Amino acid sequence: METQSATGEPAEPADDVTLDEIVALCKRRGFIFQSSEIYGGLGSTYDYGHYGVLLKNNVKAEWWRAMLTERDDIVALDSAILQHPRTWEASGHLEGFTDPLVDCRTCKLRFRADKLEDAQCGRKPSKHPGETDDCDLTDPRQFNLMFETHMGPVRDDASTVYLRPETAQGIFVNFKNVLQFSRRKPPFGIAQIGKSFRNEITPGNFIFRTREFEQMEMEFFVPPDEAERWFDYWLEERMRWYVELGIRPDHLRLRRHPPEELSHYSSATSDIEYLFPIGWSELEGIANRGDFDLRQHAKFSGEKLEYFDQQSGEGYVPHVIEPAAGADRAALAFIVDAYDTEEVEGRKRTVLRLHPRLAPVKVAVLPLVSRESMPERAREVYEQLRTRIAAEYDEGGSIGRRYRRQDEIGTPWGVTVDGQTAEDDTVTLRDRDSLAQTRVPIEGLADELAARIDQAWSSPKLD
Ligand code: ATP
Repeated sequence: METQSATGEPAEPADDVTLDEIVALCKRRGFIFQSSEIYGGLGSTYDYGHYGVLLKNNVKAEWWRAMLTERDDIVALDSAILQHPRTWEASGHLEGFTDPLVDCRTCKLRFRADKLEDAQCGRKPSKHPGETDDCDLTDPRQFNLMFETHMGPVRDDASTVYLRPETAQGIFVNFKNVLQFSRRKPPFGIAQIGKSFRNEITPGNFIFRTREFEQMEMEFFVPPDEAERWFDYWLEERMRWYVELGIRPDHLRLRRHPPEELSHYSSATSDIEYLFPIGWSELEGIANRGDFDLRQHAKFSGEKLEYFDQQSGEGYVPHVIEPAAGADRAALAFIVDAYDTEEVEGRKRTVLRLHPRLAPVKVAVLPLVSRESMPERAREVYEQLRTRIAAEYDEGGSIGRRYRRQDEIGTPWGVTVDGQTAEDDTVTLRDRDSLAQTRVPIEGLADELAARIDQAWSSPKLD
C-alpha cells in the first residue's frame, strides 16, 4: 500500500523498444487484448489470449517454484477476494489507501496530485498561438482506491464489502490457521497469488497499471531481532529471480524509499525497478512491515496473533518481510526485455528472446512441405513431444513464415520434418536466437529439449 509511489517517472527512456511496439505485438500474436473491445473497450482492463495466458502462467509457476519447490520454509495460501470489512479498517486501507486527486476546472480531466506531468490542458489556449496552457487545477482531495460492492440483496452501508486492493491482508488474517495447521515456527512464510483491484486515478501504460491485476505476494514471519537481516536477504533473492529468468541486470536496479515516502506500516521499503519504455519504474516492492499488521488484526479481532516459543516459554509477535510483485507487470517486463528486431537476409525479423522456461511454447513442430507424408510424420513427432513439453504443430504457410510466427511468440526451438526424416529418422533443430540449424535424431529429442530448458540462460541481447 502506497499513497505515493515512484513509478512512471520518465527517467532515461529504454534503449530498444517503445510501448506501442509491445502493444502491437501482443495484439498481433494474441497475447493481450483490450477488454470489451467490441464495445469500445473498458478503461485500463485487459484480457489475455492464448499465448498471454501461457506466458503469465509460466511467470507464476516460476514464482511458485522459487517460493515453494526450491525451499521448505514457505507454505501456500489462496484466500478469498472478498473479506470481512473490518479487515480494511484494521489494515488502515479504509482510512489511508488514498491518492491525492485534483481536477482541471477547464478540461475536466483528473490527475494524481503527485503525478502532474500530463496536466497539460487540452482546452485552455495559451498566450502562444496554437499551444495550450497548463491545467487550472483544484486543491487536492483524498480519493480511496478501494472498489466497493454490496453483499446480498440489500444495498446499504451494512452490506458494503470491498474487492481486495492487495492479497497480503488475506495472509495476515489466516496467520493463526496456518501456524496451527502447518506447525511452523518463525522464520517461515505464507505465499499467495491472486487478483487485486484498485480504482487507480491514472491507470495506463498498457498492463503496467490497471484496475484489476494479479499479485504475487509472500509474507515472511521472523523473530523481531532478525527482521533487518531477512529484509536484506529477500532483496537479494528477488533480484536474483529476475536475473535468472533472463532480465538484463543493467535494466534492473534497487531503489530504497526515503523516510517521507514510507507507508505508515513500513520501517524500510526498497523497490526493484526495471527500465521500462516509460523509464525506470517499480516492478516489485520489498517492505519490512514490522509487527504492524498482526498487532492491528489482533486488536480489531480480539484474537491473539502470536507465536508461542515452547523453549523460552514466551510468546512474541513476529515481524514481517514482504516481497510483493505483480504478475502482469512482471510479464510486461519479460516481454519488453525479450523484444528484439534484426535484419536477416535483407528482411526484418521480430523475435522475443524469452528464457525458455517462460516461453509460452517451447518447441514448434513443422513439416517442411504439406506432402510426401511429412505432415503425418511431423504430427507423430509433435504428439510424442507434447506429453513432455509445451509444443505446437503448424503446417500453414511457407516454412519461413512459420518460423517468423514462432520467433514472435518466443518459441526457442523449431523442429522441421523434411525429406531426409523418412530415410534416417532425423529432423532439423532450429535455434531461435542463433538461427543455427542442426540435424538431430527424433529418438531422445524430448530429453534433449527438457535438458536445455533447465540449463542456466542469459539474454543473447547481452552478447
Ligand atoms: P505503484 O507505486 O506502481 O502504484 P505500489 O507501490 O502501490 O505500486 P504495491 O502495493 O507495493 O504497489 O504492490 C506490489 C506490486 O503489485 C507492485 O510492485 C506492482 O508490480 C503490482 N501492482 C500494484 N498496483 C498495480 C496496478 N495498478 N496494476 C498492475 N500492477 C500493480
